[in-house]
Amino acid sequence: MTDRDRQTIPAKCQRCEKPLSDVTVCDYCHSLNPAAAGVDYFTLLGLPRQFELDEDLLTGRFHTLSRAVHPDTHGAESADAQLLALQISAAVNDAYRTLKSPALRAAYLLELLGGKSSAEDKSVPEGFLATMMMMQEEVHDAKTAGNAAELARLRDVLTVQHEGLLRRIGGLFRELAEGASCEAVRNDLLGEIRRQLNAVSYVRKLLEQAG
Ligand SMILES: [Zn+2]
Repeated sequence: MTDRDRQTIPAKCQRCEKPLSDVTVCDYCHSLNPAAAGVDYFTLLGLPRQFELDEDLLTGRFHTLSRAVHPDTHGAESADAQLLALQISAAVNDAYRTLKSPALRAAYLLELLGGKSSAEDKSVPEGFLATMMMMQEEVHDAKTAGNAAELARLRDVLTVQHEGLLRRIGGLFRELAEGASCEAVRNDLLGEIRRQLNAVSYVRKLLEQAG
């Protein structure tokens, strides 16, 4: 595990100084931990930092945490504690929304692992743009002709493509987690995930057009 991957759960509660088992709330005094507003989404929800996700676990953690940090739960506390409850609640909501969606989760994890954002690297897999331009034309023609059956067929094709890209991204993250042997291999994998994710964005946009 590198420093970059290490999760940042503070050792003890700032108020009662008992050891913390959870990054957000102290088991003993139930006070909120100020550090929780700034940790990454995986740490915040107590999930392993990986692409594969147990969706039931995610939803369960989200509901438990939502209750624990809800501003109403901390309404009788100091103004600072109430503000903190608001901040952490917002972070928990953002974390859930991001991690629930495979594409958003992949993009978030990629940047957490040091990969480039879509603004920094707009490249796509080789041959992908040609395929997309062809499909775009087909979508355009089907819409112009008002051909609903053809549009449905194109949506099916795009959906299969979307799923395939996400499966490939999952495989690349697994390779990365199994330990890229050197920095160059690691960077190659991060770059390839970026390209596949950029392709996912194209496919999603085209799916919307075909909708
Ligand atoms: Zn405490």
